[in-house]
Amino acid sequence: MGEEAGKQSGPDLGLGIPEADLAEGGLLVGHVGDEPVLLARRGAEVFAIGAVCSHYGGPLGEGLLVDETIRCPWHHACFSLRTGEVLRAPALNPVACWRIDRRDGAIYVSDKLEIAPRPATPAAAGARRAVVIVGGGAAADAAADALRREGYSGALTMFSADDSAPYDRPNLSKGFLAGSAPEDWLPLRSRRHYEKRGIDLRLGARVVAIDAKAQIARLADGAQHSYDGLLLATGAEPVRLTIPGADLPHVRMLRSLADCRELVARAQSARRAVVIGASFIGLEAAAALRARKVEVEVVGPDAIPMERILGPEVGRFIRKLHEEEGVVFHLGTTATAIDGRFVELKNGEKLEADLVLVGVGVRPAVGLAEAAGLAVDRGVLVDEYLATSAPNIFAAGDIARWPDAFTGERIRIEHFIVAERQGRTAARNILGHRERFDAVPFFWTEQYDLTISYVGHAEGWDNVEIDGSIEARDCALSYRRAGKTLAVATINRDIESLRAELEFEGAKASR
Ligand SMILES: Cc1cc2nc3c(=O)[nH]c(=O)nc-3n(C[C@H](O)[C@H](O)[C@H](O)COP(=O)(O)OP(=O)(O)OC[C@H]3O[C@@H](n4cnc5c(N)ncnc54)[C@H](O)[C@@H]3O)c2cc1C
Repeated sequence: MGEEAGKQSGPDLGLGIPEADLAEGGLLVGHVGDEPVLLARRGAEVFAIGAVCSHYGGPLGEGLLVDETIRCPWHHACFSLRTGEVLRAPALNPVACWRIDRRDGAIYVSDKLEIAPRPATPAAAGARRAVVIVGGGAAADAAADALRREGYSGALTMFSADDSAPYDRPNLSKGFLAGSAPEDWLPLRSRRHYEKRGIDLRLGARVVAIDAKAQIARLADGAQHSYDGLLLATGAEPVRLTIPGADLPHVRMLRSLADCRELVARAQSARRAVVIGASFIGLEAAAALRARKVEVEVVGPDAIPMERILGPEVGRFIRKLHEEEGVVFHLGTTATAIDGRFVELKNGEKLEADLVLVGVGVRPAVGLAEAAGLAVDRGVLVDEYLATSAPNIFAAGDIARWPDAFTGERIRIEHFIVAERQGRTAARNILGHRERFDAVPFFWTEQYDLTISYVGHAEGWDNVEIDGSIEARDCALSYRRAGKTLAVATINRDIESLRAELEFEGAKASR
């Protein structure tokens, strides 16, 4: 994934800083040579780690110190201050740990430390001999990595229907579609990573059936693969329109890298695009197409875009933002037909388009699970350990519906980071750790230069409290039901988003 180089700022930590400059619970960013280093004080101890998040270069010095960890303000990755290791997605790689000397009332940082990998736990070592992962997205990738990190040394095969190795799907509707992120930012890992860790990544390999009794996965080419532990991480599939013309070649969807490559190719010559669907993917794609100077019209059934997720105030603000960028909305209506030149709407309007992007939501890809006899109800049903109703089969990511530790309700969430964190927990549970999945959900959206972060999960609320100003892009919105805050959305208040996450964690712990 693309990383931004950290800028050299703050004091030269090689020359030392007075102890008094780093208060208890304080963070201080300086540098050693060209490398930015973060100092953190926790009680009597001082830690020094790389100051730049390994996921898109977030500034860890503006993050939140929690016990012996630091959380990144941009996408809530979490690192150990003691070892630099990643404790929570979306970061995939550790940050460096630095040597500290404290003498004569000053703190000096000298060089990077070699940190030995955590030893495998005995439970992990012999728990399974053949693990199969079905899927090649966020959850699958995180699970494969975690299995090896936990010391699992048996066979590990990842079957992915996709032709590309796991990639940063959220970037597809943002930088990559807009042309600001090159394709080489997208892979989550190098091919070498999978080889080195003994992860047998099979691309273009669709699993067509699972025999849960015999513990066999069957592939589209007829091959069979035995397992003693299986993770289902088949993600979601875009909902297809069934209106006349929906299968014309200029009518596209956006789920995979291949979809996005095709869109990018078409956007290069397209003049007018119609985006059908005014939720996250539709609106992010609209912004990305505007960056390519394509005229964009957006069609959506609701009166205010994204109202159901973020409330009317944010929805109106987002609409205005898009309109200022030249997007034309057709709301409260739907598309009824498409031909080579026009998209026809229910209200009788006809919109000219040489590119049509359909973003009307996704459905969890539960076909395999259903056919295998697993309990399925609007997602694959899993318990708090992400175990399905079948022995030795776990599920994670967009397909999984699990009991939420915060509300007690069963939820299914389509967030990249949730999928990664579930992948990791499922991997640990495949190895017998019995770890509850209780991470607080987090996602973000980027449209033009606006980023909204959202922590928690509110499917419905009776009150939204707005602190600050949406217009001024400086606000926190709390979504409440029966007096209980279920989610917090923020604009340019990253630290508040992190604090809200921490509060949700505390609330959950004391439930
Ligand atoms: C364009 C776009 C932008 C997004 N932006 C954001 C964002 O900004 N923030 C956010 O939080 N979330 C975002 N999301 C959602 C996020 O990407 C998903 O929640 C996440 O990818 C889910 O991970 P997953 O592993 O469950 O599924 P996926 O990432 O969808 O992976 C599923 C994998 O399973 C494979 N597969 C399916 N069936 C089979 C089979 N039978 N055999 C073998 N392989 C199979 C697929 O090919 C795929 O590789 C976005 C999604 C899209 C499409």
